[in-house]
Amino acid sequence: MQPTTKLIGLIGHPVEHSLSAILHNAAFEETGLDFAYLTFDIHPRNLRDAIRGLAALNIVGVNVTIPHKENVLELLDEVSPEARMIGAANTIVNDGFKLRGENTDAYGFLASLRGYTDAIRGQTVSVLGAGGAARAVLYVLITEFKPRQIHIFNRHVERAEALRLYLHKTLSQSTVTTHELFDTNALDSLSNSRLIVNATPAGMFPNEDESPVVSDKIFKEGQVVMDLVYNPSETRFMKLARASGATTVGGDEMLIQQAAKSFELWTGVAMPLEKVRAVLHRHIQEKSVKG
Ligand code: NAP
Repeated sequence: MQPTTKLIGLIGHPVEHSLSAILHNAAFEETGLDFAYLTFDIHPRNLRDAIRGLAALNIVGVNVTIPHKENVLELLDEVSPEARMIGAANTIVNDGFKLRGENTDAYGFLASLRGYTDAIRGQTVSVLGAGGAARAVLYVLITEFKPRQIHIFNRHVERAEALRLYLHKTLSQSTVTTHELFDTNALDSLSNSRLIVNATPAGMFPNEDESPVVSDKIFKEGQVVMDLVYNPSETRFMKLARASGATTVGGDEMLIQQAAKSFELWTGVAMPLEKVRAVLHRHIQEKSVKG
């Protein structure tokens, strides 16, 4: 790093699990851009101060992760129409000391489902989770895939219910049903879904034994089952689905695609995707070998 090095970062709590610094720093090295990516563990009580500090320190931008994606919106100077509609931002751009919230998770999710568009459009879909990532997933499903029926499952069902009301108000989506995660009476809704997306951290390293769904009865051939978790690259949830003949999609490509969009917003340069893919896969492999 030099005095001229421009700074990018990540704010979340915790942040140790994140691979964003590895991906972005590899991309800065490959492109020769004089940027560096740091991680900041920001406790929720310090979020407001941290956000004002970004502008004061003239940091070029940050990614936002668990648990700040939703709460950060009210602290920003501007919010892109997409992030506003989703109700969550995973990227902040410092535009001449004005902080703008963007959502690149939506782009990443859509890009990683390329190839399955025809199989999913107009069908019944299920989303597990009701946090920031689930909001981006639901936005894309509603605006791009126009599902016939949407099921949202969450540990705290009242959060899923609040999301249902939000989707009704913002996107006029009236075909949403909510369920408690692990409610065995709702298994039919899952097995009748053409697409099931895990948007919870259940199963993420080092808790690889966890899964948001433990019954293998819900999976079958013809389904697309996506896990937003990218470490390990095949989660317990994906293994259960694959064993029953479903097609599985991991969270690694979404991670790369959302990072690429953020990278472009901050630098104006395209991310070197092949290099970043190779770095990510090597890192996950080494980590799981060590773990
Ligand atoms: P968030 O806003 O904090 O929401 C977390 C959600 O997961 C909530 O619905 C929460 O339920 C639920 N949850 C948390 N721990 C759980 C557990 N052990 N079992 C079941 N449900 C649990 O987080 P987020 O930003 O939406 O992120 C969710 C996951 O998506 C994370 O693993 C994150 O790494 C991943 N993600 C991946 C990408 C990618 O590019 N691949 C992008 C974004 C996010 P309650 O409301 O009941 O607490």
